[in-house]
Amino acid sequence: MRIAVGGIHTECSTYSPVLMTVDDFRVLRGEELLRANAFSFLEADGVEPLPLLHARAVPGGPVSQPGYEVLKREFLDRLRSALPIDGLYLAMHGAMKVDGMDDAEGDWITAARAIVGSNSLIAVSYDLHGNVSQRVIDAIDIFAAYRTAPHVDTVETMARAWSMLVEACGKGMRPGVAWAPVPVLLPGERTSTEDAPAANLYRALSEIDGRPGILDANLMVGYVWADEPRATACAVVTGLDRLAASKAAEEIAASYWNARKKFRIGPVTGPLEDMLDIAERSTTRPVILADSGDNPTGGGVGDRADVLNALLARDWSDALIAGIADRPAVDACFAAGEGDRLNLSIGGSLDRSSGCVAVTAEVVRLDNPGAPAERQAVIRVGGITIVVAARRRPYHAMEDFRRLGLDPEAMRLLVVKSGYLSPELAPIARPNLMALTDGVVNQDIAALACERRRRPMFPFDPDFEFVPRTRLSRRWSES
Ligand SMILES: [Zn+2]
Repeated sequence: MRIAVGGIHTECSTYSPVLMTVDDFRVLRGEELLRANAFSFLEADGVEPLPLLHARAVPGGPVSQPGYEVLKREFLDRLRSALPIDGLYLAMHGAMKVDGMDDAEGDWITAARAIVGSNSLIAVSYDLHGNVSQRVIDAIDIFAAYRTAPHVDTVETMARAWSMLVEACGKGMRPGVAWAPVPVLLPGERTSTEDAPAANLYRALSEIDGRPGILDANLMVGYVWADEPRATACAVVTGLDRLAASKAAEEIAASYWNARKKFRIGPVTGPLEDMLDIAERSTTRPVILADSGDNPTGGGVGDRADVLNALLARDWSDALIAGIADRPAVDACFAAGEGDRLNLSIGGSLDRSSGCVAVTAEVVRLDNPGAPAERQAVIRVGGITIVVAARRRPYHAMEDFRRLGLDPEAMRLLVVKSGYLSPELAPIARPNLMALTDGVVNQDIAALACERRRRPMFPFDPDFEFVPRTRLSRRWSES
């Protein structure tokens, strides 16, 4: 069996003014893809995996049209060269926005379908924060999405989609996809699978997987910071029996709809100044404060200095801010050198509207892995240590700190640009606070500009009637 593998994986806030380019993507091509840890599951008896191109970027603003076209063209060229194939597996996120284009994944997947023809099977894996469309569903045969947020089942999910595809190709099965949209858009921070009610809704999926005629049951929260018509929560069920899959999709959709008013943010949450008051009174450490409106892993720009500004105003001592994306500040620190003092402007280097702070800083440490975009500097301003990075990036793994000689557990206050904390940071937080800060992934959902989403949509429209209705993929309903 010949099964091709590729895809594109990113999440884009349509509120961000900072476009992604092709340079923002880490691209795996050919053999590189097969060697990557994320694709270590691509083995099965009698299967020849055909690696194409997989592009992945830290979430951010919309992808520039030329950047997208370059990646798509190369992916499609490689797909054409791999023909004939029995199946195609695509590892997607699902919430990509391409500047000037709606439903970017629909564009990518239908272009792939046009090349492979109607006989080959297409399987996709998605992040549960992806936005599905009828166009996506119509082009695929198999769908699997993450069941955890924070995401700790990424590779398992990819392997689920892959295994279903391998089995279907091997046995000549023809699975199909049923989906049921739910007009609800909530942020990941309110729908973490660590907390009720999402924990219970996701736990119920494995029971549905086991029913006759069902292969894989999914609940998609969707991506709320996309003001485009396709944005929605939904249930997506892969199965062999249309009726069983349709019933399951409606049941999952109804469970989410019925719970819509019960979702809450897990940690203590509030305006920045209130959170800093709590942090100031705390006798345990490290207090970990999430600067949620500027979280780069949710699509935030990651260049804002609001929390730094607030800490300076309080003359705060013993805090670590990791980090702020500011290429000019990093370049200036490298020009100065370790141990030097210099005047810096920090913040707003990418989104000028977000403001900056003027400081006199001491350069504590420089980190130069090679490429200028990878450089980082650790600086100190009074009692505040700040990591500035040349590119937009999170500091959510302990290794990010160790590399810079920093110990987050020793700090009185650690500030990270994050929504819910990562699996490595959450266990050390004493306590975890989430500040409702400004930014392009602002948690004040009801106040987001809502010009292109389908209405009515909860919570933009707080009260309306809804009954879930399943739609089958065209490939399934017409076969
Ligand atoms: Zn996600």
